[in-house]
Amino acid sequence: MNREHKGYVPLTGSDFDTLTRQLSKLLATQHPPVIIPGEAILGIEAMAAGISAPGRTILNVVTGPYGSLFGKWLERGGATVVQVEVPFDQVVSANEIQAAVEKHKPCALSFVQAEVVTGGSNPAEEILKIARDFNLITVMDSVSAVGGEALLVDDWGADFVAVGAQKALAGPNGVSAVSISPRGWEFLESNPNAPRNSILSLLDLKPDESGSAPVRVPPNIPALEARALIAALSRVEEEGLPQVIRRHELAASAAIAGIKALGLEPWQKDGRFYSTLTTTVRISGTPGLRIDQPIGIVAPGDGELFGQLLRINHFGVNASRESVEEAIRTLAKLLHQEPEQAIKAVSQVWGYGR
Ligand SMILES: *Cc1c(COP(=O)(O)O)cnc(C)c1O
Repeated sequence: MNREHKGYVPLTGSDFDTLTRQLSKLLATQHPPVIIPGEAILGIEAMAAGISAPGRTILNVVTGPYGSLFGKWLERGGATVVQVEVPFDQVVSANEIQAAVEKHKPCALSFVQAEVVTGGSNPAEEILKIARDFNLITVMDSVSAVGGEALLVDDWGADFVAVGAQKALAGPNGVSAVSISPRGWEFLESNPNAPRNSILSLLDLKPDESGSAPVRVPPNIPALEARALIAALSRVEEEGLPQVIRRHELAASAAIAGIKALGLEPWQKDGRFYSTLTTTVRISGTPGLRIDQPIGIVAPGDGELFGQLLRINHFGVNASRESVEEAIRTLAKLLHQEPEQAIKAVSQVWGYGR
């Protein structure tokens, strides 16, 4: 075949197997994840549609905009949705979850592992432990956590985990994945309202336990995006997932050190729960920080957070010393400050990390 046409060859069974194996390894699960033929948000909506049903009470945690969207999708499916909501400059505590579980006796619990929009990261492992104690089905949006922090799907007993490669993994956004435990599959199968013959159907995409494609490779998986995802996950394997995570941790520590040296404050209140993908900067009292458009990796707050915070998007290829330094220079400029001290603070963090 002409090489120029190579990109248009449909995905082969062997490509599908490679991708499945890479995703399982990434998520530390022995159960083959579902490959979602679209953006991560499709997998997330599919999880909501698949688990929601009248008569089911689901506890939905809202620590950012994706959580509130998930709650709406759950409601659409007819479940009784109980929300645990915290101000967006905080994360949820395991105690709050435990109290809500005891009070409302849900059958499932959903939350976002880490939030790029607010710069917070929920204590996922602790939350999942409580959920296991109460025998709940658990649903995690880990799109902004995967590659930036630990995510041990089988060890932690997470039943549904949605991931995408477009954040920490520096991959494409057109194909994503949902990992589902055997218990998770039972939960879907026992729901008469779970979509079938629909783009929202996880059941339609159920892989064989061996990880091979369901009868044939689903023809709706975008082949170019799938190949780009294979390439991105190969790069992650080459660098090593722990090193990718470490790079994000260093970027976050460096960004925090830099903004503090500029006299700024993180938006997130508790330093134990900073996201490693973004650092959010409180604007209050510093009108020079009100920007309308992104400047490099420095971006204004999304939606209701506009004018309240700035985001430094130090994820993927930008989880690097150069990108963080540039962001700190940008902030110094907005503040009409000389950047040297802050840049020194940034370099020190990377220096120690080597
Ligand atoms: C980015 C993100 C998504 C969805 O991303 P898409 O680009 O729309 O696929 C979902 N949840 C969280 C927490 C995210 O950060």
